Amino acid sequence: MHLSSRVIGIPDSITMKLNERAITLSEEGKVIYNLSGGQLPIKPLAEFVEKIHHQLNFLKSYQYCPSAGFPALRKKLLKHFYETRQVPSEIFDTVLDCILSNGSKHSIYNALGAIIDPGDEVVLLAPFWVSYPEMVKFWGGTPSVVKSNVFDAFVPAIDDIRKIMSPRTKCIILNSPNNPSGVHYSEAWMKDFAAFLKDYPEVVVISDEVYSEISYFDPKPSYFYQCNHSLLNQTIVIRAISKTLASTGLRLGYTIAPKGVVEAMSRIQGQTTSGPNSLIQRALMDFDLSLIESFLSPVRNHVRANAATLREKFREGNLGHCWYQSTSAFYFLIDFSRTPMFQKFGSGEDEDQSYKIADELLFKEGIAVVPGHDFGMNNTARISLVIEEIPFAEAVTKIVRYLNKTN
Ligand code: PMP
Repeated sequence: MHLSSRVIGIPDSITMKLNERAITLSEEGKVIYNLSGGQLPIKPLAEFVEKIHHQLNFLKSYQYCPSAGFPALRKKLLKHFYETRQVPSEIFDTVLDCILSNGSKHSIYNALGAIIDPGDEVVLLAPFWVSYPEMVKFWGGTPSVVKSNVFDAFVPAIDDIRKIMSPRTKCIILNSPNNPSGVHYSEAWMKDFAAFLKDYPEVVVISDEVYSEISYFDPKPSYFYQCNHSLLNQTIVIRAISKTLASTGLRLGYTIAPKGVVEAMSRIQGQTTSGPNSLIQRALMDFDLSLIESFLSPVRNHVRANAATLREKFREGNLGHCWYQSTSAFYFLIDFSRTPMFQKFGSGEDEDQSYKIADELLFKEGIAVVPGHDFGMNNTARISLVIEEIPFAEAVTKIVRYLNKTN
């Protein structure tokens, strides 16, 4: 059958593909350290699972919900947003609304659909989450990419964002804490970004905050609109239960945005997917969101411990040039171009070798990582910091040895 030209250009999601390849090799009996995962390897909080159990008893849990989700849950999540971000609800209740979708990937996709016209430019800050450029292109937009580097812990300079702005710039996607770098932008950066936005009142910022609760390094993540609440008029906030409740498979994400955007997204959902999973929404409605904090506490300690192991092993292996302090989410981005192994490729930094390197790491060393090319960062790879501490240390020892090998 002849496929549409729109779909022919869409690549597979590299994170999903790598994970599948590592699983296949493990099933064949090879010892694989799978550092490619983008999820916590634990079950969700027992109290949340109990709520799901309870909701199994009701007919409504199996039936359609309104296309934007259950109103009581939308209200609850909006209230939670006001409280956790210290936004005055009495002012913003007339401005903002909340809509639930099938995971935050779906939220971002529909949010872009609500604002992008063909030819619009969307600024992405590299390294960026792999799906942003493809989603932008799907709606007819054009990604414009701002680079960063390991010496700045992959935090882009606001001057570089300013340089890339054009009359066609419709939107900037911000992702702090960041996948794949595992850092969150500082409060000072957010203040500067808020000041920068004063010159661009028509530009929409999509703030992807799905990792905001997973931060193991103080000060915690904060956001530009907290310096100046009126910026919420041009902001679309994306959140989810995937990472914070270790529930990637339950597919529930949500968007907090000006009412017109939420209404447009609701129309998209009404004609495409309908509202998301009723059962999980009803369980969440009944669940005490403040429990998430203590649930994530051991997760943060675990990721912090693995990040410390990484630092120690990189220090012992004299790999200081590719180390930076990760602070949040559960990733770290290795910059191969700053390591001895890169010599053997004899190529400049502009030519990407990240696929080749990831293949070598998998087939020679048994380590699965995600090549950085699709995150907008040539010659890097993302590793995940969530696996158990002993195998993680073993995997990093092998990585360090590999990075120091010049042939
Ligand atoms: N944003 C970022 C930055 C992500 O890393 C992910 C998933 N890896 C998502 C959004 C989408 O998550 P989900 O659809 O599971 O909510």
